Amino acid sequence: MSWKTVVGLEIHAQMSTRTKMFCACARGSGTSANQHICPVCAGWPGALPVINQAAVRRAIRAAICHGCEVQRESRFDRKNYFYPDLPKGYQISQFYRPYALGGEISFKREDGSEGILPLVRIHMEEDAGKSVHAEDGTSRIDLNRCSSPLLEIVTEPLQMSGVEAARCVRSTRELLRWIGVCDGDMEKGNLRADVNVSIHREGDSTLGTRTELKNLNSFVSIERSVEVEAARQAQVLEEGGSIRQETRLWDQDLEQTESMRGKEDSPDYRYFPDPDLPLLIIESSDIDLERENLPEFPAARRTRYVDGLKIDEKAAESILARREFGDFFDQLLAAGLSGSSASNWFRGEVLKHLNDREELIDDYPLTPVSIATVVEAVEGDRISVAKGREILQAALDQNCSPEEILAQTDEQVSDETALIGWVQQVVDANPDAADKIRAGDSKPLGFLTGQVMKASSGQAHPRMVQEILQRLIQQG
Ligand code: ADP
Ligand code: MG
Ligand code: ZN
Repeated sequence: MSWKTVVGLEIHAQMSTRTKMFCACARGSGTSANQHICPVCAGWPGALPVINQAAVRRAIRAAICHGCEVQRESRFDRKNYFYPDLPKGYQISQFYRPYALGGEISFKREDGSEGILPLVRIHMEEDAGKSVHAEDGTSRIDLNRCSSPLLEIVTEPLQMSGVEAARCVRSTRELLRWIGVCDGDMEKGNLRADVNVSIHREGDSTLGTRTELKNLNSFVSIERSVEVEAARQAQVLEEGGSIRQETRLWDQDLEQTESMRGKEDSPDYRYFPDPDLPLLIIESSDIDLERENLPEFPAARRTRYVDGLKIDEKAAESILARREFGDFFDQLLAAGLSGSSASNWFRGEVLKHLNDREELIDDYPLTPVSIATVVEAVEGDRISVAKGREILQAALDQNCSPEEILAQTDEQVSDETALIGWVQQVVDANPDAADKIRAGDSKPLGFLTGQVMKASSGQAHPRMVQEILQRLIQQG
């Protein structure tokens, strides 16, 4: 009988508040070590923590969008351990009474079906500082990160593959970013996961002994470490050995896990309620307020774009890559564009511009309304598509509004008599090209159209020019 892999996740997400969890210091890595510290986060005796309301509001949002039950009363506890980057000698966390219970992460199974990973809980806690180990053998402590607000999302164990475990983390990351709770930057460690792995025989009702892989900060490492660790456990068991419950380290380069330490049990931490912090009371009105302010979730937006507006999956995916993209796109719709033209112009102009320059949409100077004005001029046949693009580009280059340029742009000429005048002039000047077309070679058509556009200083309606060209040549 084959082995089945079981995974349970502990996802740590740093909340993107302006200040830290229990003091007014700025959150973030700062420009120099120990720049953002004060007696509270540096652990001076007698300094008292005060909870950051903005962190609590974000935590509530995270709980709502994972479908948890937010607890009216929760409490903070001290988790005691010694480490140089933890100046108080304990971490403030929520052990006995976390603020959120239950909930789930939905993810896509490898076979394409919908997977549900139930959550045990979400709790709030504070981060530790950083030890910086220098080449010369000295170690320094940077407390900028110390006491940054964290969420820990703890899942139940569930049978799944490494790919699926990574998808679960991806799904939570997408949600947290979407609702502005965490920037999801895994390289910076702002989102990281501890992955617990065990294996058991198919159909076995008891779970195997687990090992814990700490601090994985990329999807690849989550995926690979689960598979490699499950294979290691299978080998140990098949050779008649047993699995030790322990913490293991993932070595990305060697693609192997190695034992780090025996696993502490919670009694080792001597958890007790933090006497410096009162009960945290979350009223149902606090929850309602956050719920009302939640943006439309990615899944709902995807349905609206794909099923409602008939935008193809791939285009929808790029519009949904960031919430701000979708917001901009929605404003193009609100300005009157159809789904397909909003999609074409947004991807072809706005996204392309941002990608080329690696800029954020916040820095994009054109408004959805002015883009829509230009697109409407195109769709009303007043200017050509090329002209429309040119106007948007010129507005970016000259740092002015597209409307201004549009007002100075001569409208496309679709008056037959005027068009025929230009076309005749060009046909007369290029008898060889006209002959070729008459003989059935349509290649010179593009060249002649170009000449007409030139003769009209770009004002002629290109599609009408082509029609008239063909007509005149066939007649002539
Ligand atoms: P801690 O790691 O602090 O001891 P818990 O005992 O609450 O915390 O468990 C942590 C994680 O271990 C949870 O995500 C849970 O799903 C996972 N887990 C527990 N038992 C197993 C198992 N047999 N196989 C895989 N994961 C497990
Ligand atoms: Mg753990
Ligand atoms: Zn501080």
